[in-house]
Amino acid sequence: MQMNRRDALKITAAWAAAATFMPFAARAGGHGDMYEAEGGEIGIHPVDHASFVMTTPLGTIYNDPVGGAEKYADMPAADLVLITHEHGDHFNLDTLNGVVGEGTMLLTNPSVYEKLPEALKAKAQMIGNGETTEMMGVGIEAIPAYNLTEERKKFHPKGRDNGYVLTLAGMRIYIAGDTEDIPEMRALKDIDMAFVPMNLPYTMDPIAAAGGVAAFAPKVVYPYHYRDQDPKEFAAKLAELGAGSEVKYGAWYGEQHA
Ligand code: ZN
Ligand code: ZN
Repeated sequence: MQMNRRDALKITAAWAAAATFMPFAARAGGHGDMYEAEGGEIGIHPVDHASFVMTTPLGTIYNDPVGGAEKYADMPAADLVLITHEHGDHFNLDTLNGVVGEGTMLLTNPSVYEKLPEALKAKAQMIGNGETTEMMGVGIEAIPAYNLTEERKKFHPKGRDNGYVLTLAGMRIYIAGDTEDIPEMRALKDIDMAFVPMNLPYTMDPIAAAGGVAAFAPKVVYPYHYRDQDPKEFAAKLAELGAGSEVKYGAWYGEQHA
């Protein structure tokens, strides 16, 4: 087959276009992973356990900030703070008072909202399981987060706590919160990036987490909230299940997994 110069140029142009928009072409940037998205980049900066900062073209989002405001000192200021539930590894008033500035908005589940002092309540919205809202141009859906295993139900009773699916910059990002591999997780569609917990006895083990994640097969998945568990066990099971998701390791506990 003979290819003329014009066709060759067309192909070159298509390659160039593909190269300028490469979602999930992650590169290391500072202390986080950067992803090309619509209108700019999304940066993922793990802080600790369940806490991370996401820089986006629409503003900076803090998820479950705890551990003291000094941990966020070299991060951009928070435009939106998401809180999944009331446990101390997700919700801490001292940290909130330190990271919430004049223009910061908060989104919480109803139970945390009731625990906020008036000054923070004035900046906050609450949504319950299955409800949706939009803040800062980010579409937000509250996904249930709860325990399925009988003896663990006391930790996260069904109906109280939230996970979130965020729609922004052409991406759908799932932050699971503290949950097991519930049907609502398995039924998720078109998720580009997911944050999924795996620690016992509070959530689920890495094998159960892999089963849940394989069911909705996000493009990229960050194991988080895994203290004392091995996220590589999760990655191995996920690969065995053929999910095709890329597993990303962050420095959640001060170290960086390879
Ligand atoms: Zn919890
Ligand atoms: Zn937790």
